[in-house]
Amino acid sequence: MNHKLMEILYTAHQKLKDARVEESRLEAEILAAHVLKCERHDLYLKDNLVMNIHEENIFFNMLERRCAGEPIQYIIGSKEFMGLLFEVDDRVLIPRCDTEILVETALELLPSDREVFIADIGTGSGAIAVSIAYYMPNAQVFAIDIDEGALCVAKKNANIHGVNDRIQFLKGNMFEPFNIEHKSKFDAILSNPPYIPTNDIDTLSVQVRDHEPQIALDGGKDGLLFYRRMVSEAHTFIREKGFIGFEVGYNQASHVCNMLQNMGVYTCVYCVKDLSGIDRVVVART
Ligand code: GLN
Repeated sequence: MNHKLMEILYTAHQKLKDARVEESRLEAEILAAHVLKCERHDLYLKDNLVMNIHEENIFFNMLERRCAGEPIQYIIGSKEFMGLLFEVDDRVLIPRCDTEILVETALELLPSDREVFIADIGTGSGAIAVSIAYYMPNAQVFAIDIDEGALCVAKKNANIHGVNDRIQFLKGNMFEPFNIEHKSKFDAILSNPPYIPTNDIDTLSVQVRDHEPQIALDGGKDGLLFYRRMVSEAHTFIREKGFIGFEVGYNQASHVCNMLQNMGVYTCVYCVKDLSGIDRVVVART
């Protein structure tokens, strides 16, 4: 490893540690590799790798932002989700690996031998819509978001992954952009809505609270506002043998299951756990 680069990494590591960034060494390496447009292991393997003064300025500027609490994904402009790289900025929630459970569940339940129609309500970065379209060439996806900025990011991600011809982006509040033509159309309605109770937002880490969009987090007084609204309408857009898949927050699964069961139109309602054993996805089948 280049001696000067090692010093730079060391300084960055210390600064991040002082700023209480948990994975300080790793994040120093991620930023350095991003600036040098190389892989992280190249930092150690390529002796001739140097950071010129221009790159050094960019690096320390990014480091400053990270130390001030900005999420590293916004700084480097991307986050991996379902094995695909998504562009992200502060107009969208950073895709979480919990949401991969929702996508994997949907991929398992959807038939692959005919055209299928899927709606992603509150698409944000397009993580759900784009990855479903990418892994299911037979899928036609409708991605809805109330926020113009989010739709802009989602469209970019659809282009990057070559699925823009199979995703329709619609602006509006939940099912608002749908009309009579969309009744009983969908094989699946998926959503990872904002689900943090309003009063809990203050208790989140600075990283989330001060940088990720409030509109993507705030689920109303009890965090269940968007589930309530979606559950009351969703069944009219689902076809026979279709399903709803919702990601839910901690302790919310039983409430959302009850809401769905009370509709009396689903044959089966169940939960899927995440890797830490918490009910993370609720499925309701027609
Ligand atoms: N659907 C997007 C995701 O899962 C955005 C979710 C949101 O903004 N609440 O990442």
